[in-house]
Amino acid sequence: MNDMSPSPIRKIIHVDMDAFYASVEQRDNPELRGKPLAVGGSAARGVVAAASYEARAFGVHSAMPSVTAKRKCPDLIFVPPRFDVYRAVSQQIREIFAEYTSMIEPLSLDEAYLDVTQNLKGMEIATEIALEIRTKIRQVTGLNASAGISYNKFLAKMASDLNKPNGQAVITPKNGPAFVETLPVKKFHGVGPATAERMHKYGIETGLDLKSKSLAFLQEHFGKAGPYFYGIARGIDERQVKPDRVRKSIGAEDTFTQDIDDLELATAELRPLAQKVWRYCETGGISAKTVTVKIKYSDFTQATRSRTSAHPVADASDVLAIASALLATVHPFVRPIRLLGITLSSLTNEDADNGQPQSQLDLGI
Ligand SMILES: [Mg+2]
Repeated sequence: MNDMSPSPIRKIIHVDMDAFYASVEQRDNPELRGKPLAVGGSAARGVVAAASYEARAFGVHSAMPSVTAKRKCPDLIFVPPRFDVYRAVSQQIREIFAEYTSMIEPLSLDEAYLDVTQNLKGMEIATEIALEIRTKIRQVTGLNASAGISYNKFLAKMASDLNKPNGQAVITPKNGPAFVETLPVKKFHGVGPATAERMHKYGIETGLDLKSKSLAFLQEHFGKAGPYFYGIARGIDERQVKPDRVRKSIGAEDTFTQDIDDLELATAELRPLAQKVWRYCETGGISAKTVTVKIKYSDFTQATRSRTSAHPVADASDVLAIASALLATVHPFVRPIRLLGITLSSLTNEDADNGQPQSQLDLGI
């Protein structure tokens, strides 16, 4: 240990929606609530994509052949997936994450790592952030999420399972190593069934067994994953939360409780959208040159209007001004508006810019 340069302890949250696809279906169809439900095809070769908790009680789980699932649970209800709806919910939860940090690494539609060491709310306690995020997810989507809070990705991911569903757990630097020791390796994130099988051959059943193996041994038998296994056996995982930098656009939209016919009212609805997309740019160090407004009418037809400027948009009021001008071009509206959206595109990340970074210019280097 070098106490000259102590590395700050990171605060990582892993957020994971509970039985995501199945919960969305139960949310949208009250008749499915409280019932064993599988999202997926019931046909001979179908596979369960997600199972409700009621179905899990019968031993049904995702990736299980539908035939097997039906045998385990004869009353199982199959529902076809609606990925457009899952994607829309996923977008809603990412917007909630973005209120706290731009360091968001999605793993799938329903899971993400957040690094909240530095966060936009200036909150000290990561467990409080996790609780707020879960509460907001519940308010906005009507769905439950669980969370794990820890000082690295591996432990945050393991922690989010501890109090599932609708719960959260924290693993501190003090109890991380002991937590890992007792854990069966087959439950480790990053250890698939085939790897677990090989570990068992070498007598590695638990984290403690894994810890007893040398780095050289693990590298010899597990190749590039060796150093990762060596670290996690000690509760160490240096992997950074990698924000989704390859994204091509940033969007926000809102469906109104009552359709809007009036230009002034519609323009007012653009303001929170402009603020939301701009905040994401700001926190992520992203600049955007194209503003697009999406207008969905009461009959579900839609129109989009875009403008690309020579220079990146400057701030939220700039976004709002452009979006308002674009909206005005479709007024008078052919029909009342049920949804408005703003998307920013032609994105560049400051880090990747070719120009001199501002800080270097300031220093006169
Ligand atoms: Mg999940």
